[in-house]
Amino acid sequence: MQVTQTEAIEKTHQVVACKGGEATALERRTMPRTGPGEILLGLRVAGFCGTDLFKLKTGTAGIGSVLGHEIVGEVIELGEGVSGFALGDRVVVPHHVPCGACLYCRRGNETMCETFRENLMDPGGFADTVLIRWRAVEQAAYVVPDAVSDAQAVFVEPAACVLRGVHRSGLAEDGIAVVIGCGSMGLLHLLVIKALYPGSQVIAVDLDEARCKIAADLGADSAGPPGDGAKQHIEALSEGAGADAIFDTVGGPKTLEAGISLSRHGGSIVLFAHAPEGARADFDLNALFKHERRIIGSYSGALAEQKEIFAMICAGRLDPAPLVTHTMPLDDFEAGVGLVVAQKALKVVFTPSRTAGA
Ligand SMILES: [Zn+2]
Ligand SMILES: [Zn+2]
Repeated sequence: MQVTQTEAIEKTHQVVACKGGEATALERRTMPRTGPGEILLGLRVAGFCGTDLFKLKTGTAGIGSVLGHEIVGEVIELGEGVSGFALGDRVVVPHHVPCGACLYCRRGNETMCETFRENLMDPGGFADTVLIRWRAVEQAAYVVPDAVSDAQAVFVEPAACVLRGVHRSGLAEDGIAVVIGCGSMGLLHLLVIKALYPGSQVIAVDLDEARCKIAADLGADSAGPPGDGAKQHIEALSEGAGADAIFDTVGGPKTLEAGISLSRHGGSIVLFAHAPEGARADFDLNALFKHERRIIGSYSGALAEQKEIFAMICAGRLDPAPLVTHTMPLDDFEAGVGLVVAQKALKVVFTPSRTAGA
């Protein structure tokens, strides 16, 4: 019997599928195929992100959905009409692209754009192959130069999110910044701030001594536990004023209050993390009004930040690769998540499943 062409080319791959709550499972599915303007990437690495963890923990990941959005892949199929990419190119691409035309985009709040919400990856990053929709191919995908490693390139999306917050904070070149939390996102703040403003001072704050040590090794001017010691140190650096900008990578009312108390009059506090569900803040409103402080939310990153971060990584000004502590195949997804939850890992990146390409 003759095999029809569709049957002959229908290939399968493995994905990490959400199974409700925190449960996930490796699942074999039909591989996506490119339509016009799309590219298909063979996964090289997919970074595990705080947002992925949040979705698993809060059970907001739909059953059957595939998480993951920080990816570097190799082009294995080009859709009709795609230009600028060739088979075999290593590509880094974000999953969200704003429309550029709506009110939010025109006002500079591109990450609030309705179109921005659309996920331009199918099925998601934790899959052996990932289809990239045309809007992302056209506007947001970059060919990774040979000198840039997968472990560096995989940070384009998360570092762009960080950069957006840093820009929004108003931090100056010789500013004093405090980063609350020395997990992978806190440490990424440290690296991005130092790369952008080498003349700035960054004080890292975390309860965990080992993480403070890592922050110091990565270039923090000082790192230590929160509390009076940190406050006095920051005051000593700033003529008694306090820090120019605080980046809260932990989230919740307590760190917001701590951030306010460490900031100078006229300074800013950037909220960069999910707060516990339903959390409400209670602080002295006059600490804002009378002292001209600003509390700023910063969500995701837009095209401009992605472009700037990609250029910084390519120029060798920013190297986040030391944050990757674990690299493992998709088969070991739950083990990787476990390491992050237990705070035994900083950044975990996943490689294709063991049977990929077989
Ligand atoms: Zn992310
Ligand atoms: Zn828009």
